[in-house]
Amino acid sequence: LSAPDDIDPAIWERIKDHPCFSEEAHHYFARMHVAVAPACNIQCNYCNRKYDCANESRPGVASEKLTPDQALRKVIAVANEVPQLSVLGIAGPGDACYDWKKTKATFERVAREIPDIKLCISTNGLALPDHVDELAEMNVDHVTITINMVDPEIGAKIYPWIFYRHRRYTGIEAARILHERQMLGLEMLIKKDILTKINSVMIPGVNDAHLVEVNKWVRDRGAFMHNVMPLISEPSHGTYYGLTGQRGPQPLELEALHDRLEGGAKLMRHCRQCRADAVGLLGDDRRREFTRDHISSDV
Ligand code: SF4
Ligand code: SF4
Repeated sequence: LSAPDDIDPAIWERIKDHPCFSEEAHHYFARMHVAVAPACNIQCNYCNRKYDCANESRPGVASEKLTPDQALRKVIAVANEVPQLSVLGIAGPGDACYDWKKTKATFERVAREIPDIKLCISTNGLALPDHVDELAEMNVDHVTITINMVDPEIGAKIYPWIFYRHRRYTGIEAARILHERQMLGLEMLIKKDILTKINSVMIPGVNDAHLVEVNKWVRDRGAFMHNVMPLISEPSHGTYYGLTGQRGPQPLELEALHDRLEGGAKLMRHCRQCRADAVGLLGDDRRREFTRDHISSDV
């Protein structure tokens, strides 16, 4: 793969084998997620806790939860079978920074056994500033923060509560704290030269027009890429996901928003909204070949 004209060659070296940070790489390199982090410290109105974190992944299906030791065995098994594997990500099913002990234990075990694999996390950002130093020490070079608003009044329509420093906050106060922590986390990551992607969930009638403002804020703070994903709102088992039945955007609405954002922070257009236990090339999910039952305990 050669560097596209619009990307600095030094940055290209860091993203050329990461299928999410480089559109070119996603045809050739594979990522896997291990679902080791079930706990979460906020409530998004669009989340159903029985399933994966909708921040990074497709809600409506529960991933196979693993301990750090099981995750290590799975990563080794996949690395032996999938030669294109270049990235290990932790994207829930809750929040990778809040469920920190398990995230850290997993990364440490995997880095010891497979030192050249890239480590990547996604987070809602609330607990992120507490762990940026450790992320840098562990050579985590790619982080995704889900930022759905920069205006707490809009945030209050998306997040009914957060749990922060042993206390539950609600309403605008909760959204304000989350916003401040997200911005602080982003700035700290950029200072450490960690490549940071921003995910936003487009929720029609709630934050769709506002995402133009979000794009500007994150670009001004040095985010590498902005990935605007549609809210997935589907009836399943008699329940609608989404904001109490809020619909997801039509493909044309999403496209129109993407067009409005052109010229701002670089846009990701190839996200597949993967599950928290996805394995393989984007769009070619091999997770069923690598369930706990299929992986022998003595690898
Ligand atoms: Fe759900 Fe993820 Fe939001 Fe937590 S951060 S409430 S797991 S969507
Ligand atoms: Fe990459 Fe999107 Fe899948 Fe995350 S959800 S691994 S950003 S394609």
